[in-house]
Amino acid sequence: MSELEQNLTRARAYLKQFDGKGVLNRIGGQDSAGIGWFDTTSPVDGAHLAQVARGDRSEMDRAAEAAKAAFPAWRDMGGKERKQILHNIADAIEAQAEEIAFLECLDTGQALRFMSKAALRGAENFRYFADLAPSARDGQSLPSPTLMNVTTRVPIGPVGVITPWNTPFMLSTWKIAPALAAGCTVVHKPAELSPITARLLCEIAEGAGLPPGVWNLVNGYGEDAGRALTEHPAIKAIAFVGESRTGSMIMKQGADTLKRVHFELGGKNPCIVFADADLDRALDAAIFMIYSLNGERCTSSSRLLVAAEIHDEFVARLAGRVASLKVGHPLDPATEIGPLIGEEHHGKVCSYFDIAIKDGANIKVGGRPIDGPGFYVEPTLFTQASNDMRIAQEEIFGPVLTVIPFKDEAEAITLANGVAYGLAAYIWTNDLSRALRVTNQIEAGMMWVNSENVRHLPTPFGGVKASGMGRDGGDWSFEFYMEQKHIGFAFGDHKIPRLGA
Ligand code: NAD
Repeated sequence: MSELEQNLTRARAYLKQFDGKGVLNRIGGQDSAGIGWFDTTSPVDGAHLAQVARGDRSEMDRAAEAAKAAFPAWRDMGGKERKQILHNIADAIEAQAEEIAFLECLDTGQALRFMSKAALRGAENFRYFADLAPSARDGQSLPSPTLMNVTTRVPIGPVGVITPWNTPFMLSTWKIAPALAAGCTVVHKPAELSPITARLLCEIAEGAGLPPGVWNLVNGYGEDAGRALTEHPAIKAIAFVGESRTGSMIMKQGADTLKRVHFELGGKNPCIVFADADLDRALDAAIFMIYSLNGERCTSSSRLLVAAEIHDEFVARLAGRVASLKVGHPLDPATEIGPLIGEEHHGKVCSYFDIAIKDGANIKVGGRPIDGPGFYVEPTLFTQASNDMRIAQEEIFGPVLTVIPFKDEAEAITLANGVAYGLAAYIWTNDLSRALRVTNQIEAGMMWVNSENVRHLPTPFGGVKASGMGRDGGDWSFEFYMEQKHIGFAFGDHKIPRLGA
């Protein structure tokens, strides 16, 4: 049996747990079948994977009330106890890493070579925030002549977490681990297209000792279950990862209840290659940052800006590598690119092949859907593009790269900034002063110089412009999930103005 066949057999065995009962919601420590069912299907061949419980407004009401009821005890639990529970969750994720990775591959189409690490990164997120839990409430002492001023932080309350379908397991841990470490309770609404591993994660957490009601899970559609979560008065904040226009809708929906929001949205991130760079490493990184994870990645380097003097040679080497990318079944360890998430997204990505030609660009590699079954596309390279074309402005969210030449540093910066988004940027140069100048002027929340995106959990993650607001990572996560309190204690002898005396 090939390794793919062995993996498929094991993946199907893991899927059996949902036969008959489906992917259930979890509210206050109880399973719930919601108001009906929807199907989750495999991007590999469109086959049915599992039935999923559909939540609506009434289901969301119950989940929000459960999170509210569980909040005081979780808030008041000692930081050390919370730390232990979060470490237990990390242990359990590691123990189930293969099951999580295999089911994530089947549900999302992401290749195993990346998903096997996603489960472990999820565990790391829990460990990192577990260790910060005991100090989350720490504050400052800011004495004045008359007062001993101290600050402390308290968890904001029950929060809603809404996640997208690309790498859903990792992103869910990234949002939920700091919320729990801060002392918040959670209602999670996963993406309707990839709900399976969110259920595993919630089960793991309760199995590891998380009290009932601290983590509630409601599946359903965005305009229905998602909307109800953002409008619920018991929910104090919404942490959202998804499209920019959905973020805008959530902001409107949350306005009546004055929701605090944290948005991680789309990107059209530039990778800028100057002529003096280490071009071998720049090439590897540029390819990795757009063609890994099927290009369904918010920080993908979907615009490659190349110095004119090296453009032709760099693009020739790039084209050779793109044409050799291995497209295949996500559970095949050799696969580099799997199928896109579903039919609608496949249609969207393929629509850009015509748009590119119509706008005057060249399709150097790929540019066609791959015949079914499954939602595969050819890894694609657009050249002779300019920044005003739709392929340079819009987030395509597939294995599709747009190359644009630039003549000097000033033009590179203008092109980099000439989009609505501002999530990440990658700069390749061996000139330190240039790197300083360029990073100083680029409008992006995150930049890497001579590196692909390497996540370090204490650093701030997030975007500017249409790419989001707020930051994840380190203490920035706690700033979102907690409220600051100031208390001034009088030394006792300052003059108090006497009115009416
Ligand atoms: P999406 O915005 O369509 O959906 C995301 C989630 O929002 C889903 O759970 C969906 O059900 C829910 N939703 C939809 N409408 C809603 C509404 N009116 N109210 C409440 N919830 C609603 O995004 P997607 O297509 O699932 O994900 C892809 C997008 O996510 C891309 O734009 C990508 O760049 C972005 N993303 C950003 C980051 C980041 O960190 N910046 C990370 C990953 C993905």
